[in-house]
Amino acid sequence: MLEVRDVRVFYGKHAALQGVSLEVRRGETVVILGANGAGKTTLLNTVSGLIRAEGGSHIAFGGATIHDRPAPQIVEAGISLVPEGRRIFGDLTVQENLRLGGYPKRARAREQQNLDHVLSLFPRLAERRSQAARTMSGGEQQMLAIGRALMAEPELILLDEPSIGLSPRLTKELFGALAGLRDDTRSILLVEQNAHASLAIADRAYLLENGHIVRGGDAKELRNDPAVQRAYLGLE
Ligand code: ATP
Repeated sequence: MLEVRDVRVFYGKHAALQGVSLEVRRGETVVILGANGAGKTTLLNTVSGLIRAEGGSHIAFGGATIHDRPAPQIVEAGISLVPEGRRIFGDLTVQENLRLGGYPKRARAREQQNLDHVLSLFPRLAERRSQAARTMSGGEQQMLAIGRALMAEPELILLDEPSIGLSPRLTKELFGALAGLRDDTRSILLVEQNAHASLAIADRAYLLENGHIVRGGDAKELRNDPAVQRAYLGLE
C-alpha cells in the first residue's frame, strides 16, 4: 500500500535520510524504531509531503506516485499524520479540534458520522467534548490528535512518537487504543523510541539508525533478538 524506495533527504549538507526503503501493506501495523536524531520525524514528514525528498527518491501509495504532491493532496489520497507534539489547537474545544480534522474533501460529507465514530472509539473525548483542548491531560491530547487524524478517514495513519511524555499507565492505554484501531483496511506506520510497547502491537518493524534502515522483520522476531534487546529494550 505504501512503498518508500531509496528516499534521501538533506538539511543543507546534513543527510538525514540516506536511501530509506520500506513498505507498509494493507491492514498492517509497522513500527520504525530509532534513537534521537535517527531521522524518524523526517521520514514521516517526507511521506506526508511536508518535506521534499531528493531526486531519485520514490514514494507511492496505492500504486500512485505521491512524493511530488503537496501535503493536502496526500491527505486527500488517504494518508493522515499525527505529528510529534500533537499540535492541537489549545483554545478550541475537543469537538472543534475534531471537526477541523474532518475538513478534507474525501471525508467532509460524513463529518457527523465520523465525529460520532471517533467519540465512540475514545469515550474520554466524548466526556470532554466541550472542554478547551489545552486543559486536557497529555494522554487525552494524544488521543485527540489521533481522533482528529481519523476524521479524514485515512487508509494509512502516520504516528510520530505518540508515547512521548506519557506515563507508563497512559502509554499502555494509548497502545491499547491503537491496537483497537486496526481493521482490515487501515494501516498504521508508527515511529517510536518505546520499543516495548510498540513491538507488542506491531506486525513488522524496521530499525532506523543515522538515516539508514539497518534491520527489518517480523516484530516478534525482533523482540526476541539479543542485539535488538540490548539496543532498544534495555536488556542485557
Ligand atoms: P527525535 O527522536 O529526537 O525526534 P528523529 O529520529 O525524529 O529524532 P529527525 O527529527 O528526523 O530525528 O532528525 C534527523 C536529523 O536531522 C537530526 O540530526 C536533526 O538534528 C536533523 N534535522 C532535523 N530537522 C532539521 C532542520 N530543519 N534543519 C537541520 N537539521 C535538521
